[in-house]
Amino acid sequence: MLQPIVMSLLVAVTLALFARRVRELVELLRLGAPDDRVPKTVRAWLRKAADEVTVVLGQRKLLQWSIPGVMHSIIFWGFIVLLTTIIQAFGAIYDHSFRLPAIGGNGVLGALQDTFIWLVLLGVLIAFAIRRVQQPGRFRGSHLTQAEIILVWIAAIMVLILGSRAAEAALGNFPYPHGWAYLTWAAAGAFAGQSRGVIRAVETVLLWWHDLLVLGFLIYITYSKHLHILTAVFNVAATSTRPKGALAPMHIDLEEMSETDRLGAAKVTDLSWKALLDGYTCTECGRCQSQCPAWNTGKPLSPKLLVMDIRDDLFAHADALIAAKRKGEQAFQEAYEALHPLNPDVIEDEVIWDCTTCGACVQACPVNIEHIDSIVAMRRNLVMMESRFPREMQSALQAMETTGNPWGQPPQARTEWTRGTSRQEPLQIPHISEAPDAEVLLWVGCAGAYDDRNKHVVYAFAKLMQLAGVRFATLGADENCNGDPARRMGAEYIWQMLARQAIEQLNEHGVRTIVTTCPHCFNTLFNEYPQLGGRYEVIHHTEFLARLVREGRLTPTAARDETITYHDPCYLARHNDLYEGARAVIGAIPMASYKELHRHGHSTFCCGAGGGRMWMEERMGRKVNIERTDEALASASDTLAVGCPFCNIMLSDGITERHADSNMKVRDVAQILLESVEGDGAVASRGESD
Ligand code: SF4
Ligand code: SF4
Repeated sequence: MLQPIVMSLLVAVTLALFARRVRELVELLRLGAPDDRVPKTVRAWLRKAADEVTVVLGQRKLLQWSIPGVMHSIIFWGFIVLLTTIIQAFGAIYDHSFRLPAIGGNGVLGALQDTFIWLVLLGVLIAFAIRRVQQPGRFRGSHLTQAEIILVWIAAIMVLILGSRAAEAALGNFPYPHGWAYLTWAAAGAFAGQSRGVIRAVETVLLWWHDLLVLGFLIYITYSKHLHILTAVFNVAATSTRPKGALAPMHIDLEEMSETDRLGAAKVTDLSWKALLDGYTCTECGRCQSQCPAWNTGKPLSPKLLVMDIRDDLFAHADALIAAKRKGEQAFQEAYEALHPLNPDVIEDEVIWDCTTCGACVQACPVNIEHIDSIVAMRRNLVMMESRFPREMQSALQAMETTGNPWGQPPQARTEWTRGTSRQEPLQIPHISEAPDAEVLLWVGCAGAYDDRNKHVVYAFAKLMQLAGVRFATLGADENCNGDPARRMGAEYIWQMLARQAIEQLNEHGVRTIVTTCPHCFNTLFNEYPQLGGRYEVIHHTEFLARLVREGRLTPTAARDETITYHDPCYLARHNDLYEGARAVIGAIPMASYKELHRHGHSTFCCGAGGGRMWMEERMGRKVNIERTDEALASASDTLAVGCPFCNIMLSDGITERHADSNMKVRDVAQILLESVEGDGAVASRGESD
């Protein structure tokens, strides 16, 4: 009778402590900025349900990493299956012949339990081997001791449950038949020759230790990085339903702002509640860090450490913040004022500016943490409230505000690319107002309009559309920057100003379908303009050209006896899942052989220009574009095909810096196709020399 009473008390105390901690965590989360994550459509709900099944239950993202993924999946699934043994072990304290209702004697369950006991032990061993022997760099900065404590804890629970089951079997009180619970019955052999009294005593000790460890585990995880065991399911459910490439919308009304209002995140509680939940959920696995171009080129930004720093800052002030909030708004405001600013006290400014918003971290994270949202929230504060940003950004921002493009060029120069060169005939392209029957609008983009290298790309694409008989027009000098660099630099108000101007232009001319050679323009027009009411069909030129080739409207004829490789732009492949068009076009070129880069498709590696970094100095570490250039050169291809004006600039510069211009040419997919369609390759050589 004593045992059930003591156990009941222990369970009650544990549950009370657990509930108190959960309440604190929820209260803390509610201090974050509002962020509506409730799906608005049935489709979005279904997507969430599918994510829970694939990401949480199916461990989809973890399984992309073969051995660590399998190891974690075994422990995770083992945790679910072995909940049944945990219930049995607690039930046995109250009733020695306790059985799970309905399934308590089922041989299949017995076999599953036995199998997962040894599989989990194997998983723990593998986890130790990864940490102690392999020591991957992704764990740098993680709390490794905490992880090892939990591993030992899990292993102990497995050994204790196996021992208590074996004792039960030796006593003849085990519900699962021999043939099924093979491990338990084999272990029961260890009790051969022992008296029933001894076996019963051993069973009791093992059961109690097992149950105490489980109760302790329940409390420990709420104070450790293993909190993710509880929160991952909610974090995945709260994942943004925005398109992957779209930043969080932001309401700005400077006239309505009071003195206490803030733009962006100055202090930890200015981050959204989802960003705070991200902190709870980070497993410190370092998968994001291992994919980050900034970290991989020796810069201080690690998306993992960023999330951990936010979480540590929140927890460091948790008691004071919660107590103040319970007292009232004024007390909370005082507690808020006492917080350190996030930048540079918690996270150095340099870390925030190193991000290219490539999305590799978000994609790699097994629990759907959204690093870019937090980084951009801090950038918004630094730019719009503090006016503190890398000095070289100033001219790009000013130019966007005053001339409508980051190059600071006059609007009239936007159409210069149509003139061709001394060896290219000028193209006659109507302004949209003169072409009411245009099928598509060609959005030229600032790089296509003002950067010499990219003027050739837009020229080639426009020429191809003319050859294919596509009726198209442009906004000519009326086009302005879509605002992507400003938005990603944190200058949301400039983005909103530029985006509203562009939407007004597009709507005035009744534009429905847009084609563009720039993935950043594509992403902003397609994924972000709907936030301001601009909805258009937007097609990237690689996809558009693939369609024209498929329909027989363009026929590549001239052979290219060379090897071509293709660099996937982050804003096309990773943020928008578009990577087949370019490959289809290259695949249609006679005799060209294609070689894939080591990191390609969704796993592409950034060129270093995204997130507004095109207009910032790279002061620390190695250059991101050189890292990618070296990978391209290692493919020993003759041509590096690109589908983005920024990648074009960054990788061409990289090739020149590596003195490899005679080994590898950087060409846009449109240029490669035009050379083959025109039949003699003459355009290619002319383009390079012009
Ligand atoms: S978006 Fe890219 S650069 Fe930024 S933190 Fe993530 S992986 Fe690093
Ligand atoms: S943010 Fe995600 S990928 Fe990065 S360490 Fe945390 S759990 Fe792992």
